[in-house]
Amino acid sequence: MTQAKVCFIGAGNMTRSIVSGLINNGYPTELVHATNPSQAKLDALHADFGIVVSNDNVKAAEQADVIVLSVKPQLMQQVCEQMQSLNLSNKLVITIAAGIPAARYSEYFNQSINLIRTMPNTPTQLGFGMTGLYADNNISEVHKAICQQLMQSGGKVVWVEKEEELNQVIALAGSSPAYFFLFIESMIETGKKMGMDEAKARALAEQAALGAAQMVIQNQDLSLAELRNNVTSKGGTTAQAIETFEQGDLRGLVDKAMNNCVARAEEMA
Ligand code: NAP
Repeated sequence: MTQAKVCFIGAGNMTRSIVSGLINNGYPTELVHATNPSQAKLDALHADFGIVVSNDNVKAAEQADVIVLSVKPQLMQQVCEQMQSLNLSNKLVITIAAGIPAARYSEYFNQSINLIRTMPNTPTQLGFGMTGLYADNNISEVHKAICQQLMQSGGKVVWVEKEEELNQVIALAGSSPAYFFLFIESMIETGKKMGMDEAKARALAEQAALGAAQMVIQNQDLSLAELRNNVTSKGGTTAQAIETFEQGDLRGLVDKAMNNCVARAEEMA
């Protein structure tokens, strides 16, 4: 593992998720630093993972090889401007903020920087994350490898060629855990209406979702249609349910939802 000194600016949920993966994968605690204005989150991170913590963004960033910008998008400009006095030419800057285009960071820092934009999702906190990564052509292979290694600590990564594709990553992976939550939630509601108690309905639906995901992952040689057809006997119960989804144009609804998701991401940029 590359032994870069990494500093997370902002010690919220996403930092906790990534740090947890890093330390659990054996990254040296003394090489990981997190900053935050409020002390409670820093104390918790230090207690749980043994990493270095402080509330001085500039000093922490100055000492790091890699700066991970992990604050809410609306605070990003202010946080970057604070660091304008630093020479960032040899450092890698990684942002996990949604929406802000790569080019804007050079304006915020008032210098050209080595920036990689990333788009993680919340299952990162369990090691089942999916993160989209985008780097300009001027970013070195070494910096790309370091970024990939850091983000892989929370799951899988996919590089995209064009920055706009990060908005598609949001539709497919960033926002999509919520689509599945909604689907499972709807199944549980119907299970309850049918007379089943909530705990039992949830246990059935969540295990089916886990099993279905594993079948997709472990059967890469089969298409999704083949997997579906394998559990859909002609004239049977599953066929009845699938036909109902098709008649209600589930595919059209998914298409509309994902396009609206991308459109919103474009608006927010
Ligand atoms: P979060 O839990 O609110 O964490 C942000 C942290 O930044 C907070 O702990 C906040 O501290 C701290 N902070 C505020 N001002 C600061 C400053 N001046 N210097 C240093 N730290 C400061 O948010 P999050 O969910 O981790 O999200 C972080 C970033 O990840 C966002 O840009 C978001 O767009 C992106 N992201 C999130 C997700 C997700 O699913 N959560 C997915 C993809 C990308 P206090 O709370 O103490 O003020």
